[in-house]
Amino acid sequence: MKKYRMYVQGMTCSGCEKHVATALEGIGAVNIEASFRRNEATFELPDDVDINTAQKAINETRYQPGDAQVLESHDAPVMGNEGDYDFLIIGSGGAAFAAAIQAVEHGAKVAMIERGTVGGTCVNIGCIPSKTLLRAGEINHLAKINPFFGLATSAKTVDLEQLVKQKDELVAEMREQKYEHLIGEYGFELIRGEAKFIDEKTVEVGGRKLTAKRFLIATGARPSVPDIPGLKDVHYLTSTSLLDLKHLPKTLSVIGSGYIAMELGQLFHNLGSEVTLLQRSPRILKEYDPEISEAVTKAMTEQGITLITGVTYERIEANGNVKQVHISVNGEKKVIKAEQLLIATGRKPNTEALDLSAANVKVGAKGEIVVDDLLKTSNPRIYAAGDVTMGPQFVYVAAYEGRIAADNAIGSLEKKVNLEAVPGVTFTSPSIATVGLTEEQAKAKGYEVITSVLPLDSVPRALVNRETTGVFKLVADSKSLKLLGVHIVSENAGDVIYAATLAVKFGLTVEDLRESLAPYLTMAEGLKLAALTFNKDVSKLSCCAG
Ligand SMILES: Cc1cc2nc3c(=O)[nH]c(=O)nc-3n(C[C@H](O)[C@H](O)[C@H](O)COP(=O)(O)OP(=O)(O)OC[C@H]3O[C@@H](n4cnc5c(N)ncnc54)[C@H](O)[C@@H]3O)c2cc1C
Repeated sequence: MKKYRMYVQGMTCSGCEKHVATALEGIGAVNIEASFRRNEATFELPDDVDINTAQKAINETRYQPGDAQVLESHDAPVMGNEGDYDFLIIGSGGAAFAAAIQAVEHGAKVAMIERGTVGGTCVNIGCIPSKTLLRAGEINHLAKINPFFGLATSAKTVDLEQLVKQKDELVAEMREQKYEHLIGEYGFELIRGEAKFIDEKTVEVGGRKLTAKRFLIATGARPSVPDIPGLKDVHYLTSTSLLDLKHLPKTLSVIGSGYIAMELGQLFHNLGSEVTLLQRSPRILKEYDPEISEAVTKAMTEQGITLITGVTYERIEANGNVKQVHISVNGEKKVIKAEQLLIATGRKPNTEALDLSAANVKVGAKGEIVVDDLLKTSNPRIYAAGDVTMGPQFVYVAAYEGRIAADNAIGSLEKKVNLEAVPGVTFTSPSIATVGLTEEQAKAKGYEVITSVLPLDSVPRALVNRETTGVFKLVADSKSLKLLGVHIVSENAGDVIYAATLAVKFGLTVEDLRESLAPYLTMAEGLKLAALTFNKDVSKLSCCAG
């Protein structure tokens, strides 16, 4: 058998993919994968069937075959007797599990190596613990301050130890169901210990040497600690240790400006700590559209969180139990004092222990593993996926990449990673959700841009909720009216952004949004209202974006 990739024009949907596959099956092709998004089909042909026959078969459908390329033999599916495993995965987080399951489904013999807790960051110390505690914080905040007249609610002092215990139980349960249990279910092996490469096809774990035909590095990332004088001599918290605190600090300073700093800062504010967020950048969320930063600054400030931006850090010291952060802002010196100090200044890839040079795997300036579109590293046997590549730091990106890495490493499918429409959510209250290009990014890419900015007080759901601080911003191409980016600050923005992700990914236009029905009194209606705002004054519409 020979494996080919052929360019096929004219496919527009999954039905077209089936037609192409059927035509190829008719001439004896196997392992066929047609993709209308990539305008291509990959398949294997018996040696006595030449590629012209395949091109002719496709020509007889209504699609147009283009050039075909023979895929190299090292790209052929990897199975056989060479090495202890077909696929050896380092790490056991979201990327690793998705890859292991996919590789098993390709028929591979798979093992996973983990030096810490099975499940990695998301379930143990990331998404799950932070989101369950954030929900508790929101409820506590609403109990203290609710926006309705005639509703008397109040909150007692928070018992953080109880909350953390309940959080730990949930984490253990989800780790068992979504990770540990699947090892037996899918039949791959878990090897405990720290992995390091000793050559291009061998890793060592606890003195044991393991070989494999393909490897996946999915070792994730950990908090990175900035170089501020005095910091290493004081006791500070990271996201991991903060989520395990048993006593609520009276005061908390947070150094950092990413989504983790914002979420954890607001969590402790909602639980009852006095919180100060400190950031180097002149505005919070500096990568986002300015309207988003403005809305979030207003919301946080209204809630009583202190935000200090444009900070230069001079030094940090401890005075008894008090951590003192010496800063200057616009030349003015200040000392910010707090019982606890959280450092949330980004994350760095876990690559040091791997001895990547032994395997000829290149790393970038931040120690991240450099991969191509197929997630292959500089060593063609070794792939990498998830946070260790320093792409968008979300577990769904890690899992998506893990699956693609397995498809390519084991199934030889040559799938390219497409990260053009990655939604990002910050689970503060109001939440922040974005997908696609900001206005500045769209202009930098050469688009002639039109935008629509809809304040949240024009969205009926926000009015009835009595929470109107926020915004919807749409960025579109003025020629085609295609949506390029959607940026939202509102309650439930994270749920709304999925519709926007589909719109951006599949090239929907402002007109498509205007013509689609949006259920009344949902926050998602804000998308349609913002689309109408391009050429209508929304305040002059009747009740429901009609
Ligand atoms: C506080 C916080 C909140 C978050 N909230 C969200 C959220 O709400 N939504 C979301 O999508 N994402 C969230 N994230 C990000 C998300 O958790 C990560 O993007 C995701 O878990 C990365 O998965 P991964 O598989 O790449 O790596 P990880 O899950 O980090 O797994 C890597 C594993 O590799 C192991 N390892 C490392 N080196 C070695 C070695 N040499 N040998 C053996 N094992 C090794 C590590 O012990 C670890 O278990 C959050 C992160 C944090 C910190």
